[in-house]
Amino acid sequence: MPAHHFIANTRRPASDDRTIPVIDPADGQAFDRIARGSAQDIDQAVRAAQAAMGEHFDGPWALTCARDRGRLLAAWGRAVLEHADELAGIEARDTGKTLRTARNDVLALARYFEYYAGACDKLHGETLPYDVGTLVMTVREPHGVTGHIIPWNYPVQIFGRSVGASLAAGNACVVKPAEDASLSTLYLAEMAARVGFPPGALNVVTGYGAEAGAALSAHPGIRHISFTGSTVTGQRVAEAAARHHCPVVLELGGKSPQIVFDDADLDAALPVIVNAIIQNSGQTCSAGSRLLVHESIHDAFVERVAERFRALRAGPPASDADLGPLVNRTQYERVRAMLDTARREGLTEAARGRILDGAPPDGYYQEAVLLRAVPRDSVLAREEIFGPVLITQAFRDEAHALELANSTDYGLVAGVWTRDGARQLRMARHLRCGQVFINNYGAGGGVELPFGGVKSSGHGREKGFEALLGFTALKTVAIRYGRNA
Ligand code: NAD
Repeated sequence: MPAHHFIANTRRPASDDRTIPVIDPADGQAFDRIARGSAQDIDQAVRAAQAAMGEHFDGPWALTCARDRGRLLAAWGRAVLEHADELAGIEARDTGKTLRTARNDVLALARYFEYYAGACDKLHGETLPYDVGTLVMTVREPHGVTGHIIPWNYPVQIFGRSVGASLAAGNACVVKPAEDASLSTLYLAEMAARVGFPPGALNVVTGYGAEAGAALSAHPGIRHISFTGSTVTGQRVAEAAARHHCPVVLELGGKSPQIVFDDADLDAALPVIVNAIIQNSGQTCSAGSRLLVHESIHDAFVERVAERFRALRAGPPASDADLGPLVNRTQYERVRAMLDTARREGLTEAARGRILDGAPPDGYYQEAVLLRAVPRDSVLAREEIFGPVLITQAFRDEAHALELANSTDYGLVAGVWTRDGARQLRMARHLRCGQVFINNYGAGGGVELPFGGVKSSGHGREKGFEALLGFTALKTVAIRYGRNA
């Protein structure tokens, strides 16, 4: 397939014909090319989306009623399930995630489409009490053309939660997938056209962030932006959007604590805690990357976690490895640099997994690593590593646990393990983050659950019904009908 964007339901090469190689993280070799989008390509895509909406919301997509939008999303969800294996294969090859993880992502994508398909015709306004003789109602309208900048860690899931909700609310979308993970997005856009979405409702421009991504955030035709990725890039996107008064939802990662009290069900906690960090090789914004354990059980429990870590194997997506390779060389080097810092700081490595024999030598494989009793001012305890690295810290009491948990600049997710009901509620109340899981942990899970952060983790919510509201603008209509004589 020649490298192309997908605009107005047609494949289009980059306007200057430039392309970017697609690298397989399992062996470091190029196996495909994608189009390298420019500001001109973004402009074409925005114009196609504007034509679908119409200047006065009188274009073909804007005139598609909620019931029919729901039917299209439902048909798309069914098509995803029919092609689940193919889509999972594309995603695993492009991102390095294990086939098991890729398949889970595809099932979650189908759920997003099902969920938002059912929600389209439940998105209604209200009538409001006001002056006698006046009827006031609110109407939820689309913003118009929405921009979606997607990272490489969960391409199909993040596509589903953001594009699914936006289309459900009646917007037309322009999507810029990550340069390291664009193939599944292109595949999905073609599938959308096949199930009947009209030209311009969904457009995809591939390319680098500094080129296509920056052009999308700065385009005055974009009326809402949804961004998931790094804190620094999120700031740039928000600054560019502010210049044309464009609202943004930012989902910027975290350093999420998993807090284990001495009354916890440790057998139940152990596998969940390990999975919350190694899932997708630690490249998860909501990864449970800090393990906070009561001092009376810290050493014994950390040893149980260490045992699990020693058994973890990194290997190619199609093997039965626990972890796939990291997504690209940059990410691999970033994680290695953090581990070098840990060595320089003299931190204790409690356990290290291994790389499967026979894994290609040029793949970006990183063993799972457990770092014990990391001081709170260490960079390893404060900054997102975005790799399979878990740090531990001991706490004295509830107040100390809370202080450590809230001590980073981030605030995305927290997990709490305790049987004490009152303590569960106190912790849920005082943790500064967007989601709290008590006696479970849902790294990225829960299509129905509003998701997003506070502080440097970002603002705005995706997923659930909350996301749908965010993709609308509220209009108030006041109708004066007078009074009976
Ligand atoms: P990034 O934030 O630079 O990239 C995310 C998306 O933004 C990609 O589509 C990229 O092309 C685009 N982008 C980059 N620069 C842009 C710009 N100036 N304007 C508009 N869009 C732009 O992330 P990265 O460099 O791929 O990864 C760096 C770090 O970000 C990782 O190590 C990790 O810590 C974090 N990250 C977080 C998430 C998350 O889910 N929150 C996802 C991916 C990466």
